[in-house]
Amino acid sequence: MISVTHALETVLNAAKRLPPISVSLHEALGKVLAQNVHAVDPLPPYPASVKDGYAVVAADGPGEYPVIAESRAGDDAVGVTVTPGTVAYVTTGGPIPDGADAVVQVEDTEKVNSASDEIDRVRILVKTNQGNDIRPVGVDIEKDAVVLTSGEILGASEIGLLAAVGATTVKVYPTPTIAVLSTGDELVEPSTGHLSRGQIRDSNRAMLLAAAVQHHCKVVDLGIAKDDEESQGRILDKAFASGINILITSGGVSMGDKDFIRPLLEKRGKLHFDKVSIKPGKPFTFAEIDSQSTESKILAFGLPGNPVSSSVCFHLFVVPAIRQLAGWTNPHHLRVQARLQQPIKTDQFRPEYHRATVIWTDNDGTGSPGFVAKSTGHQRSSRLLSMKSANAFLEFPATGSVVSAGTPVAAIIISNLTPVDFAKNHISSDSNFAPPGIKSNKITTDSSGSADLRVAILTVSDTVAAGAGPDRRYC
Ligand code: AMP
Ligand code: MG
Repeated sequence: MISVTHALETVLNAAKRLPPISVSLHEALGKVLAQNVHAVDPLPPYPASVKDGYAVVAADGPGEYPVIAESRAGDDAVGVTVTPGTVAYVTTGGPIPDGADAVVQVEDTEKVNSASDEIDRVRILVKTNQGNDIRPVGVDIEKDAVVLTSGEILGASEIGLLAAVGATTVKVYPTPTIAVLSTGDELVEPSTGHLSRGQIRDSNRAMLLAAAVQHHCKVVDLGIAKDDEESQGRILDKAFASGINILITSGGVSMGDKDFIRPLLEKRGKLHFDKVSIKPGKPFTFAEIDSQSTESKILAFGLPGNPVSSSVCFHLFVVPAIRQLAGWTNPHHLRVQARLQQPIKTDQFRPEYHRATVIWTDNDGTGSPGFVAKSTGHQRSSRLLSMKSANAFLEFPATGSVVSAGTPVAAIIISNLTPVDFAKNHISSDSNFAPPGIKSNKITTDSSGSADLRVAILTVSDTVAAGAGPDRRYC
């Protein structure tokens, strides 16, 4: 039996970055960039107004002036020159006409009534300085500047930057393709209404497929395999020939007479380990298989059958492997220190990964702000409810002692630290701690009970509509 640290090191040594591919902007979200990206032109490409207002000659000062031109966003303002004693109307993002050296916002002006056939006039109420409310050429992005570097993860803002500089095709590291197989004679499809004695619904496959999708992977559903060595062997061979990068099986890796996954993987590749000193998840197999269709090896994870064990092993070992294949420079989970909200008894023999919800509070029990960790309740490895709303695993060395409430412990963050409602989701609270200062964001459901939000995004811009400027709606 090897340690968690040794097992993770072994997995990461085997997980080699996949060769880069070119993708369009729409496919780049969540991927790691495999090139530097330069700005081909400056942003803004012309001196642009920061406000809706009037382009003026700053030295003119307050007074009444004729409005000789209009320069709206999307106009080119070519041929217009603002001479001393005149102004031009400008809108936010509009080009500053030649001659003008400042903008006075509309709020600091007054329209002057004039006869309809006369030129518009405006009263400038304030004194301004040269450059006021003008974005000079390249102030946001200089021409030729490196806006993104190889190794950066492309989130929404980075996609917006790619759009801004016109990089609509980029080189990225692909995310792996993962096949998921459940094993067990007792397993039936989740759609099964009536369960016969001895049957349970397969929860692992849906969970692991969803978890892989959350990590931007492509997934292949291999279904449920009976506890039959030959048929499991056939399924594995077919999967290994199909171009996948990772295989995940669940079940069939312990000591039962029908647990065939370990010997099947051992026959087909290099078995690295089959037991890890971890709670939950001790019977956990990892092997490397030669791929018949890709250059890279296939990483095969034989996860334990108990749903919590398979989920914990997925987060601790498969997620870092996915990240490393996908080009992340640091594949490890974020760790924070959180104070326990209640006492927790640790295991005597194996390090334990206790499922918990971690939130930021105004008072973590010491009178100062900080993270607080609340257990998700009974930690049985079959009780998937202990994973529900868990955003962290509390890492407890095998001491067999009781860690008292208020003790700071290491929390491995496994999902976003979104605000949750402690009171609603969890077991008893502890009077030593102030109530959490964060409220949950509730999404109201419509009459059909659906909580889906439909978001429509429209870019409103003459510049963009005319094809003369970047559209950053991809943000
Ligand atoms: P095994 O690792 O095959 O010995 O399974 C350990 C426990 O996990 C047994 O109680 C199984 O019924 C259960 N189990 C195995 N696979 C699944 C699955 N896909 N979904 C839900 N429970 C499972
Ligand atoms: Mg089984």
